[in-house]
Amino acid sequence: MYLLEEAEGFSKDLLGGKGFGLVAMRKAGLPVPPAFVITTEACRRYLRTGEVPGLWEEVRAKMAALEGLTGKRFGLGEGNNPPLLVSVRSGAPVSMPGMMDTILNLGLSLQGVAALSRATGNPRFAWDSFRRLLAMYGEVVLGERAEVFEGMLSALKERKGARSDADLTAEDLEELAHAYLAHLEARGTPFPMDPWAQLEGAVLAVFRSWNNPRARVYRRIYGIPEDLGTAVVVQAMVFGNLGEDSGTGVGFTRNPATGEKGLYGEYLRNAQGEDVVAGIRTPEPLDRLKDYAPELYGELLRVAERLEGHFRDMQDFEFTVEKGRLFLLQTRSGKRTAQAAVRIAVEMAEEGLITREEAILRVEANALPGLLRPAVDRERAPRPLLKGLPASPGAAFGHAAFSNEGVERLSAQGLPAILVRPETTPEDITGMYLAKGILTARGGLTSHAAVVARGLGVPAVVGAEALRVFPEEGRAVAEGVEVREGDLLTLDGSTGEVYLGAVPLVEAAGEAYLHKLLAWAEPYRRLGVRANADTPEDARRARELGAEGIGLCRTEHMFFHEERLPWVRRLILAATPEEEDEALQALFRFQKEDFKGILKAMDGLPVTVRLLDPPLHEFLPPLEELRQKAEAGDEEARRLLERAEALREVNPMLGFRGVRLLLLRPGIFRMQLKALLEAAKELKEEGLNPRPEVMVPLVADPKEVERAKALAEELFREYGPIPFGTMVETPRAALLAAEIAPLVDFFSFGTNDLTQMAFGLSRDDAGKFLPRYVEEGLLPFDPTERLDEKGVGRLLRLAVEEGRRANPALKLGLCGEHGGEAGSVRFVADLLDYTSASPFRVLTARLAAAQAGL
Ligand code: ADP
Ligand code: MG
Ligand code: MG
Repeated sequence: MYLLEEAEGFSKDLLGGKGFGLVAMRKAGLPVPPAFVITTEACRRYLRTGEVPGLWEEVRAKMAALEGLTGKRFGLGEGNNPPLLVSVRSGAPVSMPGMMDTILNLGLSLQGVAALSRATGNPRFAWDSFRRLLAMYGEVVLGERAEVFEGMLSALKERKGARSDADLTAEDLEELAHAYLAHLEARGTPFPMDPWAQLEGAVLAVFRSWNNPRARVYRRIYGIPEDLGTAVVVQAMVFGNLGEDSGTGVGFTRNPATGEKGLYGEYLRNAQGEDVVAGIRTPEPLDRLKDYAPELYGELLRVAERLEGHFRDMQDFEFTVEKGRLFLLQTRSGKRTAQAAVRIAVEMAEEGLITREEAILRVEANALPGLLRPAVDRERAPRPLLKGLPASPGAAFGHAAFSNEGVERLSAQGLPAILVRPETTPEDITGMYLAKGILTARGGLTSHAAVVARGLGVPAVVGAEALRVFPEEGRAVAEGVEVREGDLLTLDGSTGEVYLGAVPLVEAAGEAYLHKLLAWAEPYRRLGVRANADTPEDARRARELGAEGIGLCRTEHMFFHEERLPWVRRLILAATPEEEDEALQALFRFQKEDFKGILKAMDGLPVTVRLLDPPLHEFLPPLEELRQKAEAGDEEARRLLERAEALREVNPMLGFRGVRLLLLRPGIFRMQLKALLEAAKELKEEGLNPRPEVMVPLVADPKEVERAKALAEELFREYGPIPFGTMVETPRAALLAAEIAPLVDFFSFGTNDLTQMAFGLSRDDAGKFLPRYVEEGLLPFDPTERLDEKGVGRLLRLAVEEGRRANPALKLGLCGEHGGEAGSVRFVADLLDYTSASPFRVLTARLAAAQAGL
């Protein structure tokens, strides 16, 4: 346990983010109310054993120090001096906004109110502070529901004919405080008038709040370890509710939505504490201070500069003004959108505040696809229904839902949801996480809804004041239009506009800052980046984003076309070689054109084509449909049904597919490869430079590769050879890499299948339990999203090492969803020659690969 001045240089892990920030601000010469920090160590100890020896003696000693520093006495006051009141604040090492509980005005009692009232000459303020303490303490420590206190407040307002809290007099607030006290007494949890008892209760409640359900949900979503614990800051109170020359606010040193440099934030006059963040009243923008409090504004500008100079990052800070005097209460590196992160990193490097290397490392590569988020197509959009504040960029449409349950219901049906709330609180986190967009009626750009939406990368519009939301009735009203649960809404978090129905969207425009950052990053990247693309359009898009070729072109997608499926079905049904030949001829013509399109789009760059992978029955209509048609006398349906039943497998993913099918139906193999070679030949004749490569999926044994290669070589003799490779996606192929490598030019790790076979879990079904597995701590993360380095990574490493040893010229790549996930890319950056990602993840792969090189 340390006073701020005793804790200089201590770690954030020990002091928590809040304590750490306060220590740093004090050291940088910024005005911070005196405080001490009870460390995370004490919290961990308490949660483990239920006690911390010597805790209260130490607390008493530190409180004595605060009394010395402020010249006030805790709780009671002395003579004409107001009492020392404190806030008891939680602060985990990792920022968890709104997740933990803070108690203000602690130490007040009936006796203290009298002293405070006398000393300030402001009884209204004294009773206001007390009733706030009672409600906060009642909720956080004594376990009463917040709504009970709110309900009593509303009832009082109604009775007094008060429109807002500000209309309540000192006597009204006194009455309210007594009602709170009586209520707490009656439910058997009396409020302790003894300041020391209050302090003890509050500190322990903060310790315990580490384990409250919403904190757990937040930690799970953000992958924050369960065992960090929270620190507790006990800080002398300053008051923003002392009149019009007082107030409270939050600031950002740069715009958290766009990244633009400049003081940005919100201020609420004559208000205390959480009034701003809770979004209960909509505050005014900080800019407004220029007009009526220019000195304060100037001071805030200097504070912003100091903070950035000290922390070398965009900061988010909380402050309170007590009778014109500014105090800083919190700072941390500010949450920001992906777009802002990029701009801030680039501009800070240009300002010389950080190096270019730091700039590259600062941007979360996995967030880059968010930069490509769509916007509402304003040319084609109707008049918006509403306008609110643009809180988190990107456009989204979905069905209106008014609660967590509503969002869950829609998501379970695979429908996009827009969460609509009066304002959000930490209780809404599940709905916010699952929703495609968030809309609130109240709150500013730093309200809970705005901060959390930006963190989650969910588009959001907040503070749409014309909106009235009635969650219990499942409806909202705006401009006389009623929106019911399930109605379609579109919102644009970049403009703040909200539309009725589904409105056309357009792709986001390219970003100058992003291109600059990626240009800085390129020299550090060794790993090649290709794209997974099956169409010329995807190939072009990937190329624009910097893909250096195609690492996976899945040919089966081309079979699913309306005009082609009948031929695929004839191929499956073929009873004679002639029938098979005829079908293959038709498919050959289609495939050749497909390949030409893709090779052309990637002219000069390698294009790896994977031969047919899925089991044949996937190309047949559903059995049920065939059965019905067959019964109705349809002859073709009857034959298809027969074949479908013959082909049917209990476990098709491990069945007759990939190389197994290609070797036993070599006509398909020849047709596909020939189409590829012929396509390349024709393009060459047009003067282009196609660079096709071919690979076989699902091999598990060198014999399969040998046989496939022999087939390929028949065609290579006629057309000339192209690189021939195999996927490594069965564990056995990885284990036999040394025998397979000499037969091929390259390996491409198919980590989707490799993961599912290494774990023995089906990717298509695992969604039913994997999230719970992660939740329960049985797995650190979902291995279908991020490559499991320990197991699957070990197979991969083994195949790389043994494969290279057996064939030093072997090229190594990775295709599969992991190829565009930053952590996985960094893992393979030194192992492989290239990774291949879906087009919109190419940027992520490029940046992550560069980060690995730093
Ligand atoms: P959170 O983790 O939710 O940000 P805080 O501990 O920062 O919680 O408390 C919320 C708000 O309470 C702060 O933004 C600040 O306005 C107010 N507050 C906290 N401590 C004090 C204090 N010592 N004096 C005045 N206001 C305070
Ligand atoms: Mg809080
Ligand atoms: Mg805070």
